[in-house]
Amino acid sequence: MSGDLRDLYQEVIFDHYKRPRNQGALTEHSHRAEGHNPLCGDRVTVYLKVEDGVVRDVRFEGAGCAIATASASLMTEALKGRTLDEVEALFRGFHALVTDAPGEAAPDLGKLEVLAGVREFPARVKCATLAWHTLNAALRNRTQPVSTE
Ligand code: ZN
Repeated sequence: MSGDLRDLYQEVIFDHYKRPRNQGALTEHSHRAEGHNPLCGDRVTVYLKVEDGVVRDVRFEGAGCAIATASASLMTEALKGRTLDEVEALFRGFHALVTDAPGEAAPDLGKLEVLAGVREFPARVKCATLAWHTLNAALRNRTQPVSTE
């Protein structure tokens, strides 16, 4: 990765950390789950409003490090208006992106690709994937909080 690109990626991550998008509770939600990453102390609650198999709205609440917060913010932007099949594909594509899993057909991840650099830092992968695992739990109506450990 060139230095310029890395700088740009860090700028996007920092921007989403400083000004998270879609932050705050969503009172009229159809799904909700909590996640915790004890390794770093990140906590996140993800709210979704799904109608007719489409994500009409998605918000998150919580406190975390720059990566966890930026990842949750970027995730909410990426999910709005998506069908549940598209959400599943994004989840798998994002997971492959940050863990460098071979053989995954990656969908167009758009801005989510700014987080690709975390794959070099295994402890940070949990920060980056926390919101996504919590999203998954919410969609499966799991009531137990998710832990990355
Ligand atoms: Zn973290």
